[in-house]
Amino acid sequence: MSQFQDRVVVVTGAGRGIGKEIARAFVERGAKVVVASRTEANALATAEELNATGKGLAKGYAVDVADHDATVEFGKQVVADLGAASILVNNAGITRDRLALRMGEEDWDAVLDTNLKGAFNAVKAFQRTLLKAEDARIVNISSVIGLIGNAGQCNYAASKAGLIGFTKALAKEFAGRKVCVNAVAPGFIVTDMTGELTPEVQEQIKRNIPLGCFGETEDIANTVIFLASREARYITGQVLTVDGGMVM
Ligand code: NDP
Repeated sequence: MSQFQDRVVVVTGAGRGIGKEIARAFVERGAKVVVASRTEANALATAEELNATGKGLAKGYAVDVADHDATVEFGKQVVADLGAASILVNNAGITRDRLALRMGEEDWDAVLDTNLKGAFNAVKAFQRTLLKAEDARIVNISSVIGLIGNAGQCNYAASKAGLIGFTKALAKEFAGRKVCVNAVAPGFIVTDMTGELTPEVQEQIKRNIPLGCFGETEDIANTVIFLASREARYITGQVLTVDGGMVM
């Protein structure tokens, strides 16, 4: 039997892209997966698609993780519906790219509120059950941009670097209860987010990736599965970069 069988796993931003693939990986291993997304239609459609696999269970929820109270309410609903969550994957994220000189307060706030405060909000929503659970894990999806910065992404870089600091502080606070908290820093992964780049920019980026190609959503899902597994029980407070060798 899979070690994830019947475990309650919460994945934010799971309506599409990387989050959807992470949700799929847990469903395939028999988990009860909370597919949380901002847009209800995406959350429900993804849950339906994953349930059709006939393994595990997926349940869709619409939640805006940037909204503290709504996220805490969502947490209560999840526990009432599925029971205590023992794995939380903070994946929801957005970009609002603009050079700092031209960036408005709204673009700064939207990105920080979703990418960084959203992770804090979700931890607050599930902290009680996570701290009581056996083999509990929190995995935060950061980005290589949080490690190296990028022109036109000062809000995104700050949010993803902040997520790394948040991961390390939380790892120290939760270690006493054996809750491991780690971050994954993806490089360029094929999703809607990277689909917005022009083919010229995509080629230029690939020239700086030693392995010569973009990653697939499965590459991130596999990494999250490892960090959530018993085999990773002695790893906490770390950032695992999954980027084809771009940042080393
Ligand atoms: P997508 O844009 O494809 O999907 C983003 C997901 O996040 C969607 O499901 C979206 O919901 C959800 N979301 C956005 N805002 C909120 C919110 N306020 N509350 C709840 N859910 C929200 O992104 P990716 O799959 O590409 O990225 C996933 C994560 O990985 C992000 O954190 C991103 O920063 C990170 N990442 C991605 C990289 C890449 O190359 N793609 C590289 C490095 C990091 P909905 O669909 O319902 O609107």
